[in-house]
Amino acid sequence: MNEHEEQAKDLRLYEQELKGFLPERIFDAHVHLFDASCLKPGATFPPRYCYQKFGGLFTVEQYEAWMARLLPGHVVHFNSFGHPEDPSDRDAAAAYTGRISDNRGRFGLALVAPADPVETVVKRVVDNRLAGYKPYPSFVTGKPVAEVTIFDMLPEPLMREADARGWVVMLHIPRPGRIADPVNQQQMVELCRRYPGAKIIFAHIGRAYYLNSVLGALEGIAACPNAYLDTAMINHEGVLEYAFRNFPRERILFGADAPFALLRGKSVEINNQYAYLLGEDYAMGTAIYDAAHAVTFTTFFYEQLRGIKCAAERACLSRGDIENVFFNNAQQLLSGCAHDTKK
Ligand SMILES: [Zn+2]
Repeated sequence: MNEHEEQAKDLRLYEQELKGFLPERIFDAHVHLFDASCLKPGATFPPRYCYQKFGGLFTVEQYEAWMARLLPGHVVHFNSFGHPEDPSDRDAAAAYTGRISDNRGRFGLALVAPADPVETVVKRVVDNRLAGYKPYPSFVTGKPVAEVTIFDMLPEPLMREADARGWVVMLHIPRPGRIADPVNQQQMVELCRRYPGAKIIFAHIGRAYYLNSVLGALEGIAACPNAYLDTAMINHEGVLEYAFRNFPRERILFGADAPFALLRGKSVEINNQYAYLLGEDYAMGTAIYDAAHAVTFTTFFYEQLRGIKCAAERACLSRGDIENVFFNNAQQLLSGCAHDTKK
């Protein structure tokens, strides 16, 4: 099947399964957008790295073209940030994010490393009129990435600024056990409690890609009014249903994780683990490539929307809940924080 035929099939899927379910306005709270200016000079990604599908970059123009195709007729707002690892230049990435943000329908976060001086981070966020920042486990140096803790990623001086200024902190939690890891469980709650002014978004539902990992793991942060979840890359209807039933729905944000979400594939639970089954031969996390083309794939993006639709039905979400998860929750949160940074 060529790309043209695949796109026609995607459109049929959208019309038959998603169009009647999705609200007109969608806020995508988790998008990676960057152009060449955001990377260190001369840097490129490895040949099979998933960004290569998009020419090694993913700009706002590319994103908008994809959204026009995948969500035809919808108004799409977004919250973006750069590629959260090497070879990003964090100052340059924040400047790009600022240039493409208007704090009305397009918002953004700065990338931060714990070694960045706090004045640098404040300048990065305030000068670019961003809504907060996003750390990442691999920005922590001096210990193996598997041993990194949340507080290693977010030193006290950085968090004090986020707390005082009411910033968003989008956290991709570290450690192989992810949301089920006891150190994470304790630090997730402690982070929210210690810095009640900061708005902590736990990305990927705390990286809960299979059901067993999330059971009993949301209760601590559910009790913290400044804790939020984004649904990025979660297509598991059981995980999504559990979140809808056990976490306040007004603090759940739809996010897709483009450009990763634009590859053809699906995240699947296998024996209390997960893998990305991929229909295209790119390197991406725990990927299993269907080299024999045993099945036809759609995008992770549509699989996530299918998962949310199924979970919303099972957990009896109202139309209002659905509109909140897809738009109002993120619009309110981001416009509140971005407004503060302009003071
Ligand atoms: Zn992401």
